[in-house]
Amino acid sequence: MTLLVAHQLVKRFGALPATDHVSFSVNAGEIHALIGPNGAGKSTLVNLISGLLPADGGTLTLDGADITHFAPHRRVAAGLSRCFQVTSIFARQTVGENLLLAVQAHAGSSFRFAQRRDSDLALLAAAQELARRVTLEADWDRVAATLPHGAQRKLDVALAIAARPKLLLLDEPMAGMGPVESAQMVALIRRLREDMAILLIEHDMDAVFQLADRISVLVYGKVLTSGTAAEIQADAQVQAVYLGT
Ligand code: ADP
Ligand code: MG
Repeated sequence: MTLLVAHQLVKRFGALPATDHVSFSVNAGEIHALIGPNGAGKSTLVNLISGLLPADGGTLTLDGADITHFAPHRRVAAGLSRCFQVTSIFARQTVGENLLLAVQAHAGSSFRFAQRRDSDLALLAAAQELARRVTLEADWDRVAATLPHGAQRKLDVALAIAARPKLLLLDEPMAGMGPVESAQMVALIRRLREDMAILLIEHDMDAVFQLADRISVLVYGKVLTSGTAAEIQADAQVQAVYLGT
């Protein structure tokens, strides 16, 4: 089943198109990786999909609904979440406080119980479940700013999945990580796929080839090709322009 369809997306900065009639789709339950050289337009595409930037042309549908003109918060409500590379975490709050705030922000009707205490307990349970999912239970009382980089990224992921997205957008989640943290992030992304589709932008090709069900290659704002990891690895054109072999 197709979850997200991007059709002929255009974004220009001045005269130059950063994304030039980009079309691709993400299926429900898949990890779809977007790769390409620096400046190819990957982050611009994520910004168009999350609604941070208005598109100059093209359409976006999520689960059959036209979200092309939705503001970012409506896209979140429709099932699209993104990570913001740590900038969305509250650095002076503890991990637990961050997670409680995120759960509360997306709580909606499921937490409106007659008894306030029941509601508080349900929020706490949901926040603790988030901590467990990203393996930060032991850091519950730690101030977010004091966490190592990899743990901050995991917290950022937890804040994004608090909205229970159908599709999670991850723009270079392994950036700045060493091999141990990267391996943990790979394992986390793989677990998340059980509950949501993921659009993954990542330069770490080992991680991409481990995780991606399908890969789209972006070059100069255009989709060069899309295919399975095996197809992309074997593609002579991709090797020439990107993998450099
Ligand atoms: P990638 O994430 O693939 O490295 P980007 O989407 O960040 O690429 O950038 C694509 C192109 O758009 C680049 O040429 C970049 O300089 C340009 N660009 C991106 N954001 C802006 C902006 N806010 N203003 C002007 N040009 C931008
Ligand atoms: Mg980028």
